[in-house]
Amino acid sequence: MTNYVITPNPQVAVPVAGSDSYFPVRRIFCVGRNYAEHAKEMGFSEKEPPFFFTKPADAIVENGATIPYPPITNNLHHEIEMVLAIGKDGANISADAAMAHVWGAGVGIDLTRRDQQVAHREKGRPWCWGKAFDNSAPMTGFHPLSALPPAQQGLDSGRIWLSVNGEMRQDADLKDMIWNVRDIIAFCSQSVTLKAGDLIMTGTPAGVGAVTSGDVLEGGVEGIGEIKITLS
Ligand code: MN
Repeated sequence: MTNYVITPNPQVAVPVAGSDSYFPVRRIFCVGRNYAEHAKEMGFSEKEPPFFFTKPADAIVENGATIPYPPITNNLHHEIEMVLAIGKDGANISADAAMAHVWGAGVGIDLTRRDQQVAHREKGRPWCWGKAFDNSAPMTGFHPLSALPPAQQGLDSGRIWLSVNGEMRQDADLKDMIWNVRDIIAFCSQSVTLKAGDLIMTGTPAGVGAVTSGDVLEGGVEGIGEIKITLS
């Protein structure tokens, strides 16, 4: 037995929908500006290769949770996203081979301290304090790809939406993604070796906006899942 000098953290894991099994999580990669209308609302209009930032695995919050309004922000934003669960290692994966590396998919919210993100971006500093903080990655359980209807196994179509206190804020379709799941995996695996257990949050459509204490966030991706989070 290894003699650890402090207690090791438990393995972060996400439930597998409709089962008593869990998907163990390694890293969380997130794609920036992957829907044209969202890129526009953030002030960007050119099609660029996808770029990535990360969140710690232990930022994951289970579906249905109540989470505290985070510190150092007055502008916490919701970003509804489809989440890919990678089940097989690979580097330099071709777009054609990419789906064989996807174990399943779920729905997440990329909670963003927008004021921190923008302030750091304007100074050429990392986005970490805007994106990678406690409880910043609520997500549903994952469905194995094989359990999805055949038409959805490409993860390239289906409504994606989010409401706050019952008012629709984001309402789009996975078809609106600038880079599809296969391209995202190809690009990401050129820069790092993707490992089983890695997650990729695939970007958010237009309509992001602020939430505050007491708000109830509900969202989903057609056929993949629905999420509900309350801010305390
Ligand atoms: Mn995002």
